[in-house]
Amino acid sequence: MAGPRSLWLQEALRAEEGVESQELLEDTRADVCIVGGGYTGLWTALRIKELEPGADVVVIDQDICGGGPSGRNGGFALTWWSKVSTLINRVGEEEAIRLAKASEDAVREIGAFCEREGVDAHFHEGGWLWTATSPAQIGAWIPSVETAAAHGAHPYELLSAEEVQERTGSPIHLGAAYEKTAAIVQPALLARGLRRVAVEKGVRIYERTPMVDLDREDGVVHTPSGRVSADAVVLALNAWATKIPELARAVVAVASDMVATAPMQEKLEESGWTGGEAISDCRLLVHYYRTTQDGRVAFGRGGGRLAFGGRVNSNFDYNGRQTRELEEELVTLVPAAKDVPVTHAWGGPIDRTPDGFPMVGALPARTKIVYGTGYSGNGVAPSLTIAKILASSALRRDDEWSGSPLNCGVCAKFPPEPIRFVGGLVVRQAVRHKEGREDQGKSVDPVTKAVAGLAPQGFFRARR
Ligand SMILES: Cc1cc2nc3c(=O)[nH]c(=O)nc-3n(C[C@H](O)[C@H](O)[C@H](O)COP(=O)(O)OP(=O)(O)OC[C@H]3O[C@@H](n4cnc5c(N)ncnc54)[C@H](O)[C@@H]3O)c2cc1C
Repeated sequence: MAGPRSLWLQEALRAEEGVESQELLEDTRADVCIVGGGYTGLWTALRIKELEPGADVVVIDQDICGGGPSGRNGGFALTWWSKVSTLINRVGEEEAIRLAKASEDAVREIGAFCEREGVDAHFHEGGWLWTATSPAQIGAWIPSVETAAAHGAHPYELLSAEEVQERTGSPIHLGAAYEKTAAIVQPALLARGLRRVAVEKGVRIYERTPMVDLDREDGVVHTPSGRVSADAVVLALNAWATKIPELARAVVAVASDMVATAPMQEKLEESGWTGGEAISDCRLLVHYYRTTQDGRVAFGRGGGRLAFGGRVNSNFDYNGRQTRELEEELVTLVPAAKDVPVTHAWGGPIDRTPDGFPMVGALPARTKIVYGTGYSGNGVAPSLTIAKILASSALRRDDEWSGSPLNCGVCAKFPPEPIRFVGGLVVRQAVRHKEGREDQGKSVDPVTKAVAGLAPQGFFRARR
């Protein structure tokens, strides 16, 4: 795969001298074949081994495990409380609250997994600051706060402008909802740690092994140099799921880009941002930023390039223009980063669904073929929950996970191409324009507002 590896993956691979990687070079059989070696695929493999230790599980990835967004993301491990209203629309109140609570457990489970298995993924429970960086964003969190409260949950603490500025060292923050149950991780160390533990538990992993065809009748995954015949197939493909005909209109691939500074620990300490909080604003083209264990700032933005016809290519790995824009925006949001060089830049695809929430389901087939995708930019912790559904479904278990109303497949679709691509460009431009004006405290004309309102929901921001 072309493109530079992320800061995270470079660091994780450096720490891994001597780890063996193999491609599939012959035909093989397995109880379950998982396609995709990111968090979803690897958590599913581990969950299957937990439920049925004797199960023979194969994972294949076209790249290396963690080569996709699981090794490139911002490392925010967040819950589903910010989207609880969407979740209620999807699955009803009772299940939504159960899943929101499960998403809190998922954050803690990552920490427990790292502790138990000796995976040093820099897990740090510093919480999440959901901030406003323009007057238009103030209070965007209120519907989620109130909906959670109506169900007896109080995941957020509201912070004044002064409080959030003191915590972040940045005067741009005009208020925030602080969620304590949130953590940051070094994402690639987590992905590669999952890989290591999966291998130790007997999962067979084949890297640089793309699925080139899938025989749905007989459950055979074809790769260039071998086939995997399985009783069940799990498609954990993230944005590459757009290649599956049934999913092609249910997910769009939208780039998210990141930069990281050189270590700047002293400047962070001077500024007061020392709590290791995950921070994001309330834009649809969301900015997200956090510190790293070695004192860098990693800073990203969502809502970048779109894929025509769902083609995820190397354009998603790096973009010079986005990087230059990010360098400018970084200093506006994190003034302490002024004059600190940016040393790394990378990007990756986000699997955006119309309502910004993942979908899990099964393809029509004689064999069991299940899929989980559509995290819409929040997959680090939720992939654990989705993996529970996938594992139970693949094993044909009848339990609270396979029986979750979330396990109901595609629930909304984007328009077909070329309307989707062209419409997407127009809507994204309107969102850029609207949010650019809002950042400057300016008014937005009604047409721009209306067109921007057609955007699929971002992860943190429900349509208002
Ligand atoms: C820049 C960026 C920042 C992000 N920040 C955050 C964040 O801070 N917090 C958060 O919660 N989420 C974030 N996300 C989203 C998060 O990274 C994903 O939701 C999560 O990694 C999804 O895991 P996954 O296993 O489903 O997908 P992936 O990690 O993409 O794994 C899918 C795998 O499938 C493989 N694959 C695809 N097609 C084939 C094929 N035909 N054959 C074999 N293998 C195939 C790919 O190589 C890939 O490794 C971010 C994403 C990006 C791109």
